[in-house]
Amino acid sequence: MSISAFSRTASLHLALAAATLFWAAPAPLTAQQPTLSGQHILQLTQQYLAAAPKRFITSPGHDAAENFIKAHFQPEMAHGQFVTDAFYPTTPIGQIPMRNYIVKYPGKKDGVIVIASHYETNYPLKDIPFVGANDGACTTALLIAMGEYFRAHPPEGYSVWLVFDDGEEAVHEWSATDSLYGTRHLAAKWSGDGTLGHIKAFLLADMIGDRDLDILEESQSTPWLRDDLRKAAAETHHSANVFQTKAAEEDDHLPFLQRGVPSIDIIDVDYGPHTTKMPDGYHHTAQDTIDKISARSLQTSADLFMAMIRLVNQR
Ligand SMILES: [Zn+2]
Repeated sequence: MSISAFSRTASLHLALAAATLFWAAPAPLTAQQPTLSGQHILQLTQQYLAAAPKRFITSPGHDAAENFIKAHFQPEMAHGQFVTDAFYPTTPIGQIPMRNYIVKYPGKKDGVIVIASHYETNYPLKDIPFVGANDGACTTALLIAMGEYFRAHPPEGYSVWLVFDDGEEAVHEWSATDSLYGTRHLAAKWSGDGTLGHIKAFLLADMIGDRDLDILEESQSTPWLRDDLRKAAAETHHSANVFQTKAAEEDDHLPFLQRGVPSIDIIDVDYGPHTTKMPDGYHHTAQDTIDKISARSLQTSADLFMAMIRLVNQR
């Protein structure tokens, strides 16, 4: 139902009724129920994988991935809410052009909640059929779906910024200097221009489409955000999928965490059966394909992210 279905008079009455309600019971942010569909996020994942199955840096697929993201944010581009952050980090294969994309949905309160996901695949896996359905693709789709939601329902509280970051994966081998290119660049840039001071929370989505969803309690993540995630899981009846295991994980939240931004890595690292041949399960193998993720898990993850936004707003 959209407001355009009503006459102007009816809209005015609704606005008055809403204003009356507001004064009767102040701003119930919890009233904004999530309407994201796990099935839709799965479809977007499928479309993204069809458009850009291999999207490692320097590849044509990387351009295709960027074009896919941009195509889904035409309205935001037209309204100056879509920012391209181009940078040229030095990597083991030379200086490589990379790009982060930031999509901004202004809210009514001063402050920003950032939701981030990396969108590229691993350069070292360029010669195997690695598509990263869970690792990069489904979380890119989650952010696109969140954008569609906030386009239709602008944030009532803090602004929401979606960050599609590049170069999360190592180019040669994971190290402090060969990983997290996009978020290290963005955190430094936003530190320099004062943006970091406005960020209330940095929420990272990674590998949370796994059919067998168990979101890790990432031990470096900010304690109050971990408390909020536990609460979000209880409120959305997903406690069984959250915090059954606890460990530290190096991921895109670290550059923000290290600069004092409250940050949490919402990630499931336990992906598929662990065998001698595949000690790390499906992670970073050709087995990370769409059949290993599910609409149900994506629904759970979407519910959790929407609940996290509500909870951060209540603080
Ligand atoms: Zn990865």
